[in-house]
Amino acid sequence: MISQFSYHAINTYRRCPRQFKFRYLEKIPVEKRPTVELHIGNVIHRVLEELYKRGANNIVMTLDEMHDLYSSHWNSIAPEKLEVSSEYMGIDDFYNNGLEMLDAYYKKHTPFKLGKLYGTEMRLHYTLPGTASKFRGTIDRLWERPDGVVEITDYKTGQHLAQPKSKEFFYQMGLYQLMVQQSYPMIEEVELVQYFLKMGCEVKLRMTQDDLEILREELRQVILETIHAERLDDFPPKESSYCKFCEYTALCPAKRHQQMIEEEEQMEKIPSDATYLRNLANKYLTKHRQSSLLKAEVEALKNDLAEVAEVHGVTKIEGDEGTVSVRLYQEDKFVTKTESPSDFAELVARVRAMQLDEYLTVDARGLMKDGYLAGRLTDEQKGKLEEFVATVPRQRITARFKKTDDD
Ligand code: SF4
Repeated sequence: MISQFSYHAINTYRRCPRQFKFRYLEKIPVEKRPTVELHIGNVIHRVLEELYKRGANNIVMTLDEMHDLYSSHWNSIAPEKLEVSSEYMGIDDFYNNGLEMLDAYYKKHTPFKLGKLYGTEMRLHYTLPGTASKFRGTIDRLWERPDGVVEITDYKTGQHLAQPKSKEFFYQMGLYQLMVQQSYPMIEEVELVQYFLKMGCEVKLRMTQDDLEILREELRQVILETIHAERLDDFPPKESSYCKFCEYTALCPAKRHQQMIEEEEQMEKIPSDATYLRNLANKYLTKHRQSSLLKAEVEALKNDLAEVAEVHGVTKIEGDEGTVSVRLYQEDKFVTKTESPSDFAELVARVRAMQLDEYLTVDARGLMKDGYLAGRLTDEQKGKLEEFVATVPRQRITARFKKTDDD
């Protein structure tokens, strides 16, 4: 179980649960060169930290000193060890870009002593009230402005300007505010500011108490989801444009079969495993198209697909006409009337006695999904219902056809 959450961990879980599992639960080591963009960000953060630390002591670093500091941090990693993905920019261009950003910031903010500095690169923690769940984060700069407002500043060196109402801003900066106000309860008025060095502009937001309450509730939900997912080992891969930056593509079950095919094509031979998977997917896709397909046959094919997917550790099987996604997971469910009328009657009686009448209008699936799993029942209520819950294996097989000229 993950011991401490961070904004990055939550963001990873939201984007792809499987990547979250690889990175935060299995902690699979990856051999990947740092990107030049990441390096620029780290170097600039270290230089800004030094500028503000000295500024708080009335010492202004000269422009030349700043350049020397930038250069020494930059040289901490040899150029050949950096990953450059740009087709038209080399390491020197990135170096100069970083220096330009800092020069512009220097001119605008020297002597780096406006207001009262509380700290730079501050590592803070936050415990979610009513839970043992902890969050950690590093705040670039915390300071009190001359107008008495405490500002939480975060530097960004990337190309994209944030939207203050975006989920990313909401989670990252909101979490920082919760950390600051739990660590320093005397701080009342807070403004959240992301400073974009590339554009030389700021994005600001003041969160209301309602915003913070919504955030606390969302954090609670994410934690519950990850605990539940871990119990059932249910971390499905979620493919998106972020896959191209993922360091686990070689291990990802959604990518594995495609990789097997590519490897085999490179070797100009088709070993039996991949062929079998492909044929099975083709058979399923063809059968899926035929309206006269017998239900039993589909179920049998699904079982075959589920079985081979488990054996080969894949979640997506490539066919000629499309792909078949296979998801194997477990799910909690209440006893149903068909399975046991007497147990079901007892379940209904207990639900009614617990004044959970709202669930009597829905079926057992609703009670499981919206009540039991959503954490809306007390521990005592859950204890009384637990004997009616069985953890059963599930499978979901989905066909997606490739587009043809006729479509
Ligand atoms: S490759 Fe894509 S789907 Fe697979 S783990 Fe990485 S982000 Fe998730």
